[in-house]
Amino acid sequence: MSPKKILDRFISHINKLDSLEKQIFWLTLIIADIACLASAFITFGEHLGILATIFSFVCFGFLAMLTVYAVLMKSDSVTLPHFILCASLNFLLLPILYFTCGGIHCGMMMYFLTAIFLTSLCKKGKPRNTLFILSTIILGGCIAVDFAFPDIKVDITKNGTDFAATYTDDLITFIINAIVIFILSCRAINAYDSERTKSEKLLEKVKYFSNHDDLTGLYNRMVFFTYLEDTILNDTSEYYIAMYDIDNFKSVNDNYGHQFGDTVLSDVSGAISDSVRKNEGEIAARYGGEESIYIIHASKKNEAFERADNIRKAVEALSFSENEGFRVTISGGITKCEKNSKSAVIVKKADDMLYYSKHHGKNRVTASWNTNS
Ligand code: GH3
Ligand code: MG
Ligand code: MG
Repeated sequence: MSPKKILDRFISHINKLDSLEKQIFWLTLIIADIACLASAFITFGEHLGILATIFSFVCFGFLAMLTVYAVLMKSDSVTLPHFILCASLNFLLLPILYFTCGGIHCGMMMYFLTAIFLTSLCKKGKPRNTLFILSTIILGGCIAVDFAFPDIKVDITKNGTDFAATYTDDLITFIINAIVIFILSCRAINAYDSERTKSEKLLEKVKYFSNHDDLTGLYNRMVFFTYLEDTILNDTSEYYIAMYDIDNFKSVNDNYGHQFGDTVLSDVSGAISDSVRKNEGEIAARYGGEESIYIIHASKKNEAFERADNIRKAVEALSFSENEGFRVTISGGITKCEKNSKSAVIVKKADDMLYYSKHHGKNRVTASWNTNS
């Protein structure tokens, strides 16, 4: 398998992890493994001393063991291994490497900063802050101890060691740390962005389904009543309420099945939706099973009635590819939204008109101003 394929697989595996914490941990661990192994070979290749070489490989061994532990562990959370990784780096491995690799001359300070950066990526809370404070004290303490007791460390600038090697080491260390910080920062920002996009999409979905009926796409009753009470009844324009019920719908279900019944209901609702003039403040909602309610904006009663009746005609003209020749009709009732009335009273009036239509032949719309019932 080519290195590019391995990298692609690794990235797609990281992308599949379900939290930013896991993504950062695994990326950090793998990069730390690679960086530590590379730095161990560099230490060996540059002849920076037997102790430095041994400890560099010991560090890699420790990280490899932590990787195996993280792979095999039963818990799904990576919080603990992430803390172990940061604590072991900051409290043990980096201080040892500092003193065995030549102190201030071996580029360890760059690793110190990267380690603090990794600590900042641990799960937020008290343990992270404590880890940061202790790490800063310990890593800073290494420099102070080195200054006060310079003989403690293995001094790679003494005893004929190639002084230029320390510069090479600094350069390579800088490149390794720059790459690590760059990759982790990009990853954190990208993961944050994609998580935000995901939750925004989810929120939009939740918002949509808390306001809409999933089968018909119409608003639900809650939106209807809130809108009627808060907006329509306080508006000076004239509004009307039309209520519809599909005729003989039970027999549609009985004869053609519920799935086809759903299609009919959805198409009938589509015919109502098509009539809605959003920019005039109109809305349509699913009131109950196969009952819909529609707020119509019109300046005259006749105009309101005509628009309500046009929906009935549009439904009558619907055809269904699943059942050629099948026709469906609706009955309706319409009433005016009197501003000083209560929403329940207005809806009841529209409902009464709907039942008037049902009892007078169906497939018709009855207006409250045309009937005495
Ligand atoms: P009417 O002309 O008097 O209205 O007769 P009807 O058969 O339509 O009578 P009714 O209103 O009592 O029946 C409503 C039926 O609508 C009963 C129920 O099974 C069906 N229904 C309600 N909601 C749904 C739905 O979401 N999908 C389907 N397929 N059927 C539904
Ligand atoms: Mg019905
Ligand atoms: Mg009904």
